[in-house]
Amino acid sequence: MRDPEHEQISREKLEQLQLERLQLKVKEVYERVPYYTQAFKSRGIKPADIKKLSDLTKLPFTSKLDFKKNYPLGLMAVPMERIVRIHSSSGTTDKPTIAPYTRGDIETWSEILARGLATAGITSKDIFQNAFGYGLFTGGMGYHYGVERLGAVVIPTSAGNTKRQITLMQDLGTTVLGCTPSYALIIGEVAREMGVDLRKTKLRLALCGAEPISEQMREDIKEGLGVDVISDYGLTEAMGPGVSIECPYHCGMHIPEDHFLVEVVDPNTGEQLPNGVQGELVITSLTKEAYPIIRFRTRDITSLNSEPCKCGRTLARMSRVTGRTDDMLKVKGVNVFPSQIENVLLKIEGVEPHYLIVVDRTEAFSCSDIEILVEVNDSIFSDKMQTIEKMEEKLRLALEAVLGIQTRIRLVEPKTLTRSEGKSKRVVDRSELSNLK
Ligand SMILES: [Zn+2]
Repeated sequence: MRDPEHEQISREKLEQLQLERLQLKVKEVYERVPYYTQAFKSRGIKPADIKKLSDLTKLPFTSKLDFKKNYPLGLMAVPMERIVRIHSSSGTTDKPTIAPYTRGDIETWSEILARGLATAGITSKDIFQNAFGYGLFTGGMGYHYGVERLGAVVIPTSAGNTKRQITLMQDLGTTVLGCTPSYALIIGEVAREMGVDLRKTKLRLALCGAEPISEQMREDIKEGLGVDVISDYGLTEAMGPGVSIECPYHCGMHIPEDHFLVEVVDPNTGEQLPNGVQGELVITSLTKEAYPIIRFRTRDITSLNSEPCKCGRTLARMSRVTGRTDDMLKVKGVNVFPSQIENVLLKIEGVEPHYLIVVDRTEAFSCSDIEILVEVNDSIFSDKMQTIEKMEEKLRLALEAVLGIQTRIRLVEPKTLTRSEGKSKRVVDRSELSNLK
């Protein structure tokens, strides 16, 4: 354990530390960020009103919309002279989230990641091939600094150029591969095409993050790469990667609670939910300097567990993110998450881990029906029309049994759907479909 003082802290001591840090941070943003001054004033809140940790609920939420309204740097709490780096989310369809860092922020982030990597079982003896994208995206540089801080070797391959990734893995004796889960699948696929058995290399672990990963997808990556898979969770607004990370027991992702104060709330009412109940993750940063966040609504659906872990850490764990509040589809009154669909699809033989959910949205979350494009392997597709229809029917019934709604299934040929080296898009509006291909 890299930092037992914090990783094995008692709940009581942790809450005391969190309260002290929260009070300081609230005072700071109130005094320095006009947006927060206004938001607190409109609720009649002053920093002095935060007397105990449960007073957190008095503070207003911050949302993606607030980031957008304050684009690019309206929420910054320090002058530009103190900023040493700026990252950004991809923001392909919308204004991106800009993430500035002070020197102190980079230090903290590197340390959180080094601690996270150690939580995952990575040591200074490892060779970490960093296939997260370098550049504006937080993934590449974030991990890069974390791995260096841990004292392991980092190979900054970035994403893409997959054949070279595999050659380097063999030649340099890579022990840990870091990348998005969808890219891990691609690497497995390409290695197979190249006739390379990754089980015969020194690779022993894959660290996957930046997009949700289902149990089935984890199994597929394990199968493709022949190694164990550790999940990491992060978001640009909070810092980047490293907001939580699994230990080798795979029983949730540990959150560095000395840096992040987390809540899970009902996405509709905003009420806090007890541990173990699924809801929207809300994060307050306790140590960020440049861009602190207060009660930021992540839109990610998860649940918390504060029981001490088998690994000896007392820091709370969050469960795998099962969906996003904005991915949540309401189909004829039933809440459906893409991850549920994925779980069903990937259990069926012949189905490839590539699919696209096409919706006709009538309002925010509601849609009249959903159609799912599913890639199947060659053997099924080259078969008779009858086989295809039978398979479609099988998928339809399997989904109906789990979701309780009717869906339309269309099987597509292998490699039809767009592959992503970054975040995969699983849900599209029918109107966007023509632009996709
Ligand atoms: Zn653990």
